[in-house]
Amino acid sequence: MKIQAVTLFPEMFAAITGCGVTGRAFKQGIWRFETINPRRFADNKLGYIDDRPFGGGPGMIMMAPPLEAAIRAAQAQTESGRGRVVYLSPQGQPMSHAKAAELAKLPDLILLCGRYEGIDERLLQSSVDEEIAIGDFVVSGGELPAMMLMDAVLRLVPGVLGDMRSAEQDSFSDGLLDCPHYTRPTEFQGMAVPAVLRSGNHGLIAEWRLEQSLRRTLARRPDLLARRSLIPQEARLLRKIEEEQRAIPLDLGNKQ
Ligand code: SAM
Repeated sequence: MKIQAVTLFPEMFAAITGCGVTGRAFKQGIWRFETINPRRFADNKLGYIDDRPFGGGPGMIMMAPPLEAAIRAAQAQTESGRGRVVYLSPQGQPMSHAKAAELAKLPDLILLCGRYEGIDERLLQSSVDEEIAIGDFVVSGGELPAMMLMDAVLRLVPGVLGDMRSAEQDSFSDGLLDCPHYTRPTEFQGMAVPAVLRSGNHGLIAEWRLEQSLRRTLARRPDLLARRSLIPQEARLLRKIEEEQRAIPLDLGNKQ
C-alpha cells in the first residue's frame, strides 16, 4: 500500500515512519509513504498558500490552486493515476474500524491535511472523495489525525503486525470491546489473575474472554451490542449477565 500526505509539516510523519510496528513495516517496504508540500505549488516566491477569508473573520484559509496542484501531483504517483483522496476534517464522517478495514484494501491513499481555519470549500468539492473526522473535537492541523488514521489502517495491512491475530482480537474488530488482559506477576496490590486464565483449559479461557467482552461492551458501549446479531453462545452469555444484574438489589441511597 502506498500512502501520500499533502501537508505543510512533512517532518511530523517521522513519528509513524520511524517508530513502532508501522515504522518497522515501513523499513521492510510493506507500505510506502511520501509527502507533498503544497508550498511547492505556491504562486509566490515566499511560498504562501493561505489567504484571508472572504467575508472577514479570524484566521487564514488554505487556497484551492496550490492544494489542487499538490493533489494532482500525488495522483500522478499512483498506480491508477487517481487514488482515493481523504480530507481529515472535524466535519467528516467519524473514523471507525469498518472504515480502516475498507481503506486497508486500497493500493493508494492520499491524505489531505488542513491547517489554519481550514480549506477553501471549492477545493473540497472539486478534489476530495471523502472527509473523515477522528472525533468531535478540533485539533490544530490534519497531520495528527492523518497519522491516527494511517496507524489504524496499517495495522490491518497483512505483514504490518507480527501476528495478525492481535488485530482480530482488538476492540471493534468483531463488533465488541476487547476482554481484560493480565500478565505477571500473578498477584498485584492484592488482586489475583483470574484462575481460569491459569487453568490451561483453552475452551474455558475462550468462553471467559467472550463473556468479559460482552460484559464490557454492555457496560461501556451498549450501542455496539444493539447493532449486533448475536451468535447462540453470545446470546446465552448475555442472558446470564443480564439475569445476574437483575438479581443485584438496587442501591436506593439509604445506606445504614
Ligand atoms: N475551522 C475548522 C472547523 O471548525 O471545522 C477547523 C480547522 S482546524 C483548526 C485545522 C485542520 O485540522 C482542519 O482543516 C483539519 O484538517 C484538521 N482537524 C482538526 N480537527 C480534526 C478532527 N477532529 N478530525 C480530523 N481532522 C481535524
